[in-house]
Amino acid sequence: MDWRTIDACVRVDPGKTVKLADHDPGRGDVFPDKKEAEKRLPFCAEEINKLQDRLWAERSRALLIVLQGIDTSGKDGTVRSVFNACGPLGVQVTGFGRPTEVELAHDYLWRVHGAAPKKGMIGIFNRSHYEDVLVVKVHGLAPEKAIEQRYDQINAFEKHLVENGTTILKFMLHISKDEQKQRLEDRLSDSSKHWKFNPGDLDDRKRWDDFQKAYEIMLRRCSTEHAPWRVIPSDKKWRRNAIIAAITHGVLDEMNPAYPDPTWKPGDFTIE
Ligand code: AMP
Ligand code: MG
Repeated sequence: MDWRTIDACVRVDPGKTVKLADHDPGRGDVFPDKKEAEKRLPFCAEEINKLQDRLWAERSRALLIVLQGIDTSGKDGTVRSVFNACGPLGVQVTGFGRPTEVELAHDYLWRVHGAAPKKGMIGIFNRSHYEDVLVVKVHGLAPEKAIEQRYDQINAFEKHLVENGTTILKFMLHISKDEQKQRLEDRLSDSSKHWKFNPGDLDDRKRWDDFQKAYEIMLRRCSTEHAPWRVIPSDKKWRRNAIIAAITHGVLDEMNPAYPDPTWKPGDFTIE
């Protein structure tokens, strides 16, 4: 399947009302075949690596990948699988957890702008500024009026990044409530996964519907022409990885970063 066809299946048109209940996290129309998905992933990962090298050499643009999704949706796993072929020099991953005291003393975008990738880099946000309209909204951590203003502020901030040379790819990892149950149970039963289990995740699970609603508002208000959202069916990890890898590869390929022409010719030099 051509990456544009895949992309058209998952991209949220700007301004469109999104009902997550209508987005099947197990939908099989994109990558119905596991074998094909498992072949596509390493191919795309290697191509992403090659393109990253050119992006770095060109040093004039950046790519920002935003990964959002509820607990256990697979944000870490996506980073590990899709970008594992990239050299560590060109990729920078930033995880956004609970803000520190210093971060809280600034506006909520302060820490985000500081982590935006510099020219030549692929930056990956594991959670992002969107937590400030998701967990913050669901738990009432900021006044409703302030949160309401954030959607437009985020759109303006992202536009600013785009106009200054950063391409933004936003992936919402969409899983079902049953799948989350399964993954949380795995974390409890497998001792090597205990470290991933956070009892606080169960509180958020109790607010499943509130989170889904907050995600729907985010998708409707912050899917823009300059930085559209993609809702990735993520109940199957192999499908999630293949879709994200295919779109990332397609977008980077379209950016077509080029090795710069040197100001000299190899014949100008003799090495003694
Ligand atoms: P993890 O991704 O498992 O390391 O967890 C990070 C935690 O930090 C999650 O529970 C997020 O909801 C929380 N978090 C991230 N950003 C914010 C924020 N701006 N305000 C409050 N909590 C946040
Ligand atoms: Mg967690």
